[in-house]
Amino acid sequence: MIKNIENRAVKLLKSKGLRLTGTRIEILQSFLECSCALSLRDLNSRMESKPERTTIYRTLISFINSGLIHEIAEENGTVKYGLCREKSCGKGEHHHNHLHFKCDKCGSTFCIEASADLNINLPKGFHLNAVSVSITGECESCST
Ligand SMILES: [Zn+2]
Ligand SMILES: [Zn+2]
Ligand SMILES: [Zn+2]
Repeated sequence: MIKNIENRAVKLLKSKGLRLTGTRIEILQSFLECSCALSLRDLNSRMESKPERTTIYRTLISFINSGLIHEIAEENGTVKYGLCREKSCGKGEHHHNHLHFKCDKCGSTFCIEASADLNINLPKGFHLNAVSVSITGECESCST
């Protein structure tokens, strides 16, 4: 099982043209193992090799730039990172059609497939940059 996830991580890194390093494989593995988004602190405590925080951070930036993961800024100021499941995410561009669900009980954040088809009638001269919709509730392990 573990081997399997490692293989998937290696494959993903190769498909994005990223050089294989132990840290990159381990970080990507954490994302593949976890169904929820991870913060820098989460990664730090999950990783056995305990790399420097700046190393983790730099790896995350390179993952974002190659369309592997995306940043999720939460209202309380925490930044989390989620795996991009959209095939359209690539070098320097992200095209998402999903929303973020935050569990009220454990605070975990999940990427949820959904289309935010809002009818937004912007006044003349306005320009739309981003729409943010927040969904909260209880995740599977908290609601059972
Ligand atoms: Zn993306
Ligand atoms: Zn929960
Ligand atoms: Zn997401």
